Amino acid sequence: MEVACLDLEGVLVPEIWINFAERTGIEELKATTRDIPDYDVLMKQRLAILDQHKLGLPDIQAVIDDMGPMEGAPEFVDWLRERFQVVILSDTFYEFAQPLMRQLGWPTLFCHRLETDDKGFVTDYKLRQKDPKRQCVKAFHSLNYRVIAAGDSYNDTTMLSEAEAGILFKAPQNVIEEFPQYPAVHTYDELREEFRKASIRDI
Ligand SMILES: [Mg+2]
Repeated sequence: MEVACLDLEGVLVPEIWINFAERTGIEELKATTRDIPDYDVLMKQRLAILDQHKLGLPDIQAVIDDMGPMEGAPEFVDWLRERFQVVILSDTFYEFAQPLMRQLGWPTLFCHRLETDDKGFVTDYKLRQKDPKRQCVKAFHSLNYRVIAAGDSYNDTTMLSEAEAGILFKAPQNVIEEFPQYPAVHTYDELREEFRKASIRDI
């Protein structure tokens, strides 16, 4: 039995923070795990910037409502769900992801959550656990699942290494060069082919 684990941002949907930064014109919010691999450092920086600009969750959600998934992503998820149990492992937050999950047909999502005050300002973030993507793959192994994982960035690499097969999708060149052990592809057709190759079944 096989589980397909997918990253969300950069794989199925655009980078939420980059879109938000473009809409608001706040350049510093464009930093992602591609730029700052330590997620805690990155999130503290983001919350400080939101606070400084007095921007709350409704402002962010308004942008996310308009973003939509990447072209071809819903069809890819449908294809994958016919062949695997699909779980999305993300470092985003349920509060951000909800409008996008609706457009992807509500696949299972394991991520984090935000805390807000009664005015809608983000006061804190709660990570579900440390190294969550790797821990999920380990948990699936304990349930006797074989795991094929795909992601685009540094925060995916422990998931890729823990899985039986890891795939880089739309990864930047520095990540591809640093992790040459993983096949690197850039279109959903190529990604389908990598899942076919990595599967032990005839799919
Ligand atoms: Mg990503």
